[in-house]
Amino acid sequence: MIRFTYRHTHCYLLQGSDREKLLAFDAGWPCSPLEYARGVKEAGHRFDRIKWAIVSHFHLDHAGLVRDFQDAGIQCLLFENQGDGIDGMERLIARSYKDYRPIVKDRFISLRTGESRAFLSTIGIAGEVIRTPGHSDDSVSLVTDAGEALIGDLYPLPQVVDDDEASLGSWSAIRELGARHIFPGHAAPFELA
Ligand SMILES: [Zn+2]
Repeated sequence: MIRFTYRHTHCYLLQGSDREKLLAFDAGWPCSPLEYARGVKEAGHRFDRIKWAIVSHFHLDHAGLVRDFQDAGIQCLLFENQGDGIDGMERLIARSYKDYRPIVKDRFISLRTGESRAFLSTIGIAGEVIRTPGHSDDSVSLVTDAGEALIGDLYPLPQVVDDDEASLGSWSAIRELGARHIFPGHAAPFELA
């Protein structure tokens, strides 16, 4: 698991069986491609080695660079619960980022989460993507067979209130897949008891 942080968002990179090819999990802030690329470099890798990207959800600190990724030829995946968050995110971005260019929606690779294990295996990553609503309806988490879970902004378990059934269900699903090492989008990694 390769991790770097800028502007308080953790960005993750996973190596496939071809170790020169990387899958990005989360795609930074709008209009910050150079900062993102600097983070990749400081983590010992190269931006042009990123071939695929998954975003945990469409909030501007996690999916702001999707268009830049698309323009760089990175295959960006879109899961069945994710399309609806894009327009709202972009309306918000447009207010503060004058140079922002919108995502090209038909350039996404649409995938169902149920197909994610098969897709990931084709690039040499053992694991799957599951829907983990709670923070947002379009949230997904990537859980590897090594017991690592990238959860985006899913609230850490101690902070989930009793009647937040969506978040509690998401944590059950993560646990069922055997995840032990949890990597949030903003907080420090922690172990699942
Ligand atoms: Zn968020």
